[in-house]
Amino acid sequence: MGEKIVDNNQIVIVGAGLSGLTLAERFATVANKKVLIIEKRDRIGGNCYDFFDKHGVLVSKYGPHIFHTQEKRVYEYVKKFADWEKYEHQVSSFVKGKLVPIPVNIETINLLFGTKINNGEEMRRWLDERRVKGIKIPMNSEEVVLGKLGKKIYELMFRDYTKKQWGISPKELESEVLARIPIRYSFERGYSSNKYQIRPRGGFTKMMEKMIENPNIELRLNTDYYSFADNIPSGSKLFFTGPIDEFISYKSGKLYKLPYRSVKFVFKSFHKKYFQKVGVINYPSIKTKMSRSTEYKYLTGQKHDWTTISREYFSGKGEPLYPLKSFESKKKYEEIAKIVGNLKGIYFLGRLGKYKYINMDQAILEALNLFDELYYGDKKR
Ligand SMILES: Cc1cc2nc3c(=O)[nH]c(=O)nc-3n(C[C@H](O)[C@H](O)[C@H](O)COP(=O)(O)OP(=O)(O)OC[C@H]3O[C@@H](n4cnc5c(N)ncnc54)[C@H](O)[C@@H]3O)c2cc1C
Repeated sequence: MGEKIVDNNQIVIVGAGLSGLTLAERFATVANKKVLIIEKRDRIGGNCYDFFDKHGVLVSKYGPHIFHTQEKRVYEYVKKFADWEKYEHQVSSFVKGKLVPIPVNIETINLLFGTKINNGEEMRRWLDERRVKGIKIPMNSEEVVLGKLGKKIYELMFRDYTKKQWGISPKELESEVLARIPIRYSFERGYSSNKYQIRPRGGFTKMMEKMIENPNIELRLNTDYYSFADNIPSGSKLFFTGPIDEFISYKSGKLYKLPYRSVKFVFKSFHKKYFQKVGVINYPSIKTKMSRSTEYKYLTGQKHDWTTISREYFSGKGEPLYPLKSFESKKKYEEIAKIVGNLKGIYFLGRLGKYKYINMDQAILEALNLFDELYYGDKKR
């Protein structure tokens, strides 16, 4: 890394998700470079792809996508490609037959435990009495939740949901997986507390199409890198946003396999204004196979006589959606990272290229930073 791209080498980007598209936009617009994007699917957008279904309802193919960020730079960047409006996302969790707010707030506790907590101080005291003591540095994801919320909430809201999501116990998951679960010491219902919580009018795909409206960019859909690699001109700079283990297996001839979790999405439409009470409902009980149900009109603000929901079922099979951060996969990833360190002229980025869960804003920020590093180097911007 740190190498500066100064000549006319072509930029080749594998993957038309947000990471790849951001980088393509920067190289084409700022550096005036020719960019070739290779995408194996028949559409751009990666997992942020949304579309209008047969009833004309705007839905996301890979589940609900909510944009929120603390980064002014990311906000300023995305503003250029869409007309954004404020949107405060809310999620409920179906526990003991009730819909309760998540992240856990005062109302969650009152509804689940019949308490009459009134303010943050009382909530802190209530939790302090229940948090499992002596966990200074949590060693796994179970310890994270036990130390923050105690055994009862862990069992009701996190233990089984995590098992459904990852297929293994929270004990086997690195602490970072659940490290950031927020707690609200108030009645605040918002899912995120980030400064910028917005949604693009017309959806994410429309925004991403705008990002690559540039004659310097050539997009090849339905093109798998591995069957196209021989056509890439020598001297090109390669940016890879697909699964890193596949790439290293291809390069080295030895099979490297990292674990991922996938999701089966089942869509259903109804000829009615709304189907459920909130945009997203989580189902943390192991007795319900579905993990969450999303009604897209709440998320998009669309007005329509029809409504569409998606129900999600986690699975070990299918497209790789979530890198599985277990203690076992950590070792495998470290082996791959050693090989990556010796490769020249190839840059890995994004959720699959870096094998880490990142939100949309992080994907954009990492791509912007990589571009800056390569284009500006030490030059002042
Ligand atoms: C179910 C789910 C819900 C999410 N919800 C949110 C949310 O609410 N808010 C939020 O901020 N983020 C959310 N995210 C994260 C968000 O989707 C990612 O941050 C974003 O998609 C990352 O973009 P990316 O370009 O790194 O990866 P991707 O979107 O995965 O794009 C990678 C692209 O590379 C292509 N590709 C792979 N291999 C090859 C190959 N061999 N040849 C050619 N092309 C290839 C793929 O087809 C894909 O299009 C969610 C993710 C998931 C899975």
